[in-house]
Amino acid sequence: MITIIKKMIGGVSVPDKKELSESSPIEFAGLPGELILFLSQHIGAPSVPLVKPKDTVKRGQVIAEPCGFVSVPLHAPTSGVIKAIEPRYHPGQARMCEAIILEPDGKHEPAEELSPAASDLDGISPDEIRELARQAGIVGLGGAAFPTSVKLAPPEDKPIDTYLLNGSECEPYLTADHRLMLEQADKVMFGFKGLMKAAGVRRGIVCIEDNKPDAIEAMKQALSAYDGLELAVLSTRYPRGGEKQLIQAVLGREVPPPPGLPYDVGVLVSNVGTAYALADAVLTGVPLVERVVTVTGEGVAKPSNFRTLIGTPVSYLIEKAGGFKGTPGKVILGGPMMGCSLRSLDVPVFKGASGILVLTKEQAVEEPILPCVKCGKCVDVCPMGLQPLWISAYAERELMEEAETFRAMDCIECGCCAYICPAKRPLVQWIKMAKADISSRRSAQKKS
Ligand code: SF4
Ligand code: SF4
Repeated sequence: MITIIKKMIGGVSVPDKKELSESSPIEFAGLPGELILFLSQHIGAPSVPLVKPKDTVKRGQVIAEPCGFVSVPLHAPTSGVIKAIEPRYHPGQARMCEAIILEPDGKHEPAEELSPAASDLDGISPDEIRELARQAGIVGLGGAAFPTSVKLAPPEDKPIDTYLLNGSECEPYLTADHRLMLEQADKVMFGFKGLMKAAGVRRGIVCIEDNKPDAIEAMKQALSAYDGLELAVLSTRYPRGGEKQLIQAVLGREVPPPPGLPYDVGVLVSNVGTAYALADAVLTGVPLVERVVTVTGEGVAKPSNFRTLIGTPVSYLIEKAGGFKGTPGKVILGGPMMGCSLRSLDVPVFKGASGILVLTKEQAVEEPILPCVKCGKCVDVCPMGLQPLWISAYAERELMEEAETFRAMDCIECGCCAYICPAKRPLVQWIKMAKADISSRRSAQKKS
């Protein structure tokens, strides 16, 4: 069954710029001089090192073990020597984090213990899939990096009836998921059925935006091999692929405000890259040691999609994409709406990073911040029904309790408000400040 969906609350139409890299097939980026592997690759407790400097490791070997329930192990993406375990700047967390530094030996030699778990899904039980997802270090690759094994075991009083596979990829410029669906549709679908089996869910819906007609066709063919799968084709609008927005559009269900989660309305959502990673773990035994990363933008010579080892430095990937075109103005890890601006290119790709965007000097010119003109445009586009002008105004004046009463914590940081604001006010920046303050106050209250 195919459903066409056009409705959406809020959101913006952004030039998607997918044409820069959507025709570039996925290529292996190769082995950089060093891999920087953060122990904190996911939401939850960082993993704990099992190696020390001068140890030799092989591809797929566990190099750090999970610490607690919401945690996963970390594996060596290639063979080589551990050079150091030291703090490095984590751009996703905007702070220094412990990292294992691995120097590849060029052999790319796999660990002996890697072997397929099953050749089909009949040969593996739901419990075994969940355990495999944990052992393989699989986390959500759509950005949130939540451990998949935890997602696959929702509380018993939260029955799940529907699993959504998120292939929306609504961030402008990024095409990693698009290429994966186009080139590996069968494997993505195998992984999705594996996720559904592990969670005991019978209804699965593959969700794709209508700006990827070739991927829609490939996935339509692939899903026809299975029972119980549907396709939802959604009109292109940002942030279509937000979990809450997708559930609302496809199923008409409202996820409750934080700490509400999709399973509160009987739904699980996973990204297509996560499904592919699970398929890889089942069929080849290779854990999550690489992902597809788009390197794109008007400021890069050859926009590309790379199969990239986790830990690969951004500088290496930009070189692989032909280097800068002209003078770069800004390099962003992620897309233009939700990504973070990089101050140094010596930072690595981590599991939740799907793209590198290089903007030209002209594109990166900062416009002056003007006073709010109370036009209400930010309110109109907010997909969460918030009033960004008031939350940000209170946050700017450090009136965080007032910001909280205006539901600052419900903000998904999509950036629509800042994008549309004619006064160029950095609304998301202020709202993030409010969220950080509210979170730390709440955890201090819990401890006292
Ligand atoms: S307030 Fe938050 S959720 Fe609403 S548009 Fe702005 S960034 Fe998005
Ligand atoms: S869009 Fe900008 S100028 Fe308009 S109300 Fe919101 S904050 Fe004010």
